[in-house]
Amino acid sequence: MAKIGTNPVTGGSQQQEMIVGIDLGTTNSLVAIIHPALRQPVTLREFNSSALVPSVVHFTEESTVIVGDNARELLITHPRQTIYSAKRLMGKSYNDLREKAEYFSYRIHDDNAESLVKVQVGSRFYSPIELSGYILRDLKARAEHILKTPVSKAVITVPAYFNDAQRQATRDAGKLAGLDVLRIINEPTAASLAYGLGLKPDEDKTIAVYDLGGGTFDISILKISKGIFEVLATNGDTYLGGDDLDRAIMEHWAWLHEISPEALGSNKGLAQAFRLKAEEAKKQLSVTDYYDARLHNYELQLTREQLQELIRPLVEKTMESCRKALADAGLTVRDIDTVIMVGGSTRVPMVKETVAAFFGKPVNDSLNPDEVVALGAAIQADILAGNNKDFLLLDVTPLSLGIETMGGLMDVLIPRNSKIPCSIARSYTTQKDGQTGMKIAVYQGERDLVKDNRKLAEFNLTGIPAMPAGLAKVQISFLLNADGILVVKAAELRSGVEQSIEVKPQYGLSGEEVEQMLVASITHAKEDIQTRSLVEAQTEAQQLLDVTATFLEKNVEMISEEEQQRTREAMNGLQDIIGSGNRDAIHEKIAYLNDVSRPFAERLMDKALKAAMAGKKI
Ligand code: AMP
Repeated sequence: MAKIGTNPVTGGSQQQEMIVGIDLGTTNSLVAIIHPALRQPVTLREFNSSALVPSVVHFTEESTVIVGDNARELLITHPRQTIYSAKRLMGKSYNDLREKAEYFSYRIHDDNAESLVKVQVGSRFYSPIELSGYILRDLKARAEHILKTPVSKAVITVPAYFNDAQRQATRDAGKLAGLDVLRIINEPTAASLAYGLGLKPDEDKTIAVYDLGGGTFDISILKISKGIFEVLATNGDTYLGGDDLDRAIMEHWAWLHEISPEALGSNKGLAQAFRLKAEEAKKQLSVTDYYDARLHNYELQLTREQLQELIRPLVEKTMESCRKALADAGLTVRDIDTVIMVGGSTRVPMVKETVAAFFGKPVNDSLNPDEVVALGAAIQADILAGNNKDFLLLDVTPLSLGIETMGGLMDVLIPRNSKIPCSIARSYTTQKDGQTGMKIAVYQGERDLVKDNRKLAEFNLTGIPAMPAGLAKVQISFLLNADGILVVKAAELRSGVEQSIEVKPQYGLSGEEVEQMLVASITHAKEDIQTRSLVEAQTEAQQLLDVTATFLEKNVEMISEEEQQRTREAMNGLQDIIGSGNRDAIHEKIAYLNDVSRPFAERLMDKALKAAMAGKKI
């Protein structure tokens, strides 16, 4: 347990557990705590600097990692080694990102469109979890430096629309950074807490949280009842934000000065200089009516009215999302009690006015819109630390619950600290052709490999009808009831066969053991995540080998001798490296095999498609 010493922020020497709140943002991240003396949330900042840390990671030639302002400065000069917006990659496959590929100036590896993306820097591959882990590690170190005390526990915020995989990825990133992530909370929930909403047990309210940041827009409709937040609807645009406002200004000036988009596109330095001036103009026009500056020979002017005309279509787009979110929640503007503004771009007066006019009431904008999410996360952290005596803590699971998947990996279904009761279902499939049974092994713990966790039970789902691998649909559901009893059910949905068991996860488990398991998960986080990514690479490699072998066998007469020869060589190369324990080398060989087989795979697909079309009457 960490203790707070005497230091500039805390100002005292009270002994208590330090849990920080972290807003892990797409563009910027920041950390907040509850000031122990003032009992108010405050963001952490180094003397005289901003609390915002750019969410940018740079890798030097020697693979040293630089995070924050210093990394951001290298975006233009070292685009391939400088990674921004890692949050957009969390839990995503290449297929998910394909349409937005031009947004990223670094290399996103596309060896297998279905599996999770990796970023390639030189000959190294980084998962989004590792990238976010570097940012969190930096935030942790900064916080420790400012507070002069170790920081090991955190509450981290995520967008309300993040799915289970994205939330788990964020937890893993925290673990990798040496943080025990006590809870993942929704950004709009954190913003509401910062405004004091949801802290009174008898409060019933419906809230709209309008969040326009640098690159993303989210609208969330929340319902608070008896201290519980429920997300009724979310909407937004993950590629709309302050950057687009800057671009609109920049294009306007380029047009006035007869600079073609091609000329700007080919002169990155000039484009960047214009972009910075555009952002400066936008910010200044939030407080004044007129902007005037010079860039080389160009006179740059803009009035607030002109700015409003330029950004009107973008703001209107956000209002369309608000309309949709309300409709999805089955509500009208009259049902909304409170509107909260989040994100730096809500400082634009026209944005505030348009939102207030739409909802027919003044908006809450008294807190710094860049900081409000982190401040709310700090409030949640304080509640979890048991410092807020007015707040009743709901019963939660002390350890994660999950099942064993391929390669001995732990797949968490109920993350630790989930409120009880809770339930979740997830679908799995068979690995082998004709497989008629499936072993379901249930584990408890925080480690990535089940062998390091506590086994609770095991049973077999039998009677699955024989079918090709991947066709069976086995749904595993976990129901943890209010008495702490876990019901695990497995059902094959096509045939209807099912089986279930009951276990009591807390039975025979002392508080000390729980603590030990948590500590072990943090100390072994790095090797665990490395092992996990190695096992995942090995599984992906094995699947690719199996699929390619079947494909070759079935289409032997359509593939040239030379292609077959090259493919077999690539397969042998991959087979030889699977057991090597070198994840990057496996990914390289996977990419090579994909490159070799792509031409004939595409040729055959084309042919199959043509044949199918020819057989169809349109
Ligand atoms: P966030 O992602 O929430 O940190 O938001 C950053 C965005 O807010 C960037 O696009 C900034 O240009 C924008 N921003 C910051 N301050 C202002 C301001 N005073 N007026 C308008 N936009 C601002």
